[in-house]
Amino acid sequence: MSTHVPERATEIRLASRPSGWPVEENFAIAEAPVERPGPGQILVRNEIMSVDPYMRGRMNAGASYVPPFPVGETLTGAAAGEVVVSEAPGFEPGQKVVHSLGWREYAVVDAAAATAVSTTDAPLAAYLGVLGGTGFSAYVGLFEHADFRPRDTVFVSGAAGAVGSLVGQMAKLRGAPRVVGSAGSAEKVRYLVDTLGFDAAFNYRDGPVAEQLAAAAPDGIDVYFDNVGGDHLEAAIGALNVGGRIAACGAIGQYNATEPPPGPHNMFLMVTKRLRLQGFIVSDSAELRPDFVREVGAWLRDGRIRDLQTTVDGLRNAPSAFLGMLRGENIGKMLVTV
Ligand code: NAP
Repeated sequence: MSTHVPERATEIRLASRPSGWPVEENFAIAEAPVERPGPGQILVRNEIMSVDPYMRGRMNAGASYVPPFPVGETLTGAAAGEVVVSEAPGFEPGQKVVHSLGWREYAVVDAAAATAVSTTDAPLAAYLGVLGGTGFSAYVGLFEHADFRPRDTVFVSGAAGAVGSLVGQMAKLRGAPRVVGSAGSAEKVRYLVDTLGFDAAFNYRDGPVAEQLAAAAPDGIDVYFDNVGGDHLEAAIGALNVGGRIAACGAIGQYNATEPPPGPHNMFLMVTKRLRLQGFIVSDSAELRPDFVREVGAWLRDGRIRDLQTTVDGLRNAPSAFLGMLRGENIGKMLVTV
């Protein structure tokens, strides 16, 4: 198969580090020569890419669990596309792959860092959503780190987002009698209850989280899947029943903060109610991947789980898609078609 490969292509670079909320000017749209793959490499024409909250942390200078994005260099992140040139055994032109060199039209990828995927089993976008790191985060957070049991009442924040919308659905699929979600708009709240099968949901902007959670889960909660931190975490600690468990997945409520956010004021309840809080990073759980692919793949094939997406068209609009995701403009996974 021969595919035309242009001499130059578009990519998005980090122009400067943000202070507080990032802005479009922190990104630069650039043209660069399309490199040819060397031995053991493939050239991929990216079709779709992911924008994720963790990228906000990588825009800062400080060290975290992943190194910061260097200023002036092309950003990276999960992407999916088609092999157009292969210098690696096992990859032919036309093969769809996922890899981590998004934010560019063409990527030279080491074959060892690319995963071949089948689009007869699922649409390409699913490998960035329900079958990708997003779905895997929901799966390991809920079933491994929160030690979910079928009689647990579950509360998830960021519930209409990529990870949160899957957490709620997975909890119901494994038998949770009651799943409660919080999200940032009335439209999202309706969606959670009417379309995704949440038992209750509330808009955290409508009033104190603790009060709204108490009303939505009058018998308390057993598991809290934390995507937000702050007042959500404090409310969950207050609502958890004895022996309750928290999976600390993220704290998006503070990613753009310029001052240290206040901690929960009710930490002694961790002692009196024998609670457990477990932070996790999804990439540490590779051994659970076969179970995840088997179980969630079957749910997807059977139409029992919905892979929600909000899609923005055009690589040049990736910065605004990223900023929009931080502001809550997405339902489900925020993706960009390249
Ligand atoms: P997402 O939920 O699809 O998108 C972010 C959402 O956060 C927005 O849609 C917005 O929805 C919400 N949000 C923004 N500011 C908020 C605030 N101040 N308070 C409450 N909600 C706010 O993103 P995602 O990819 O699924 O990630 C969700 C969380 O999981 C993030 O904290 C992320 O860092 C974390 N994560 C962790 C891992 C891991 O390995 N530990 C892996 C993946 C993701 P609203 O309209 O509802 O505000």
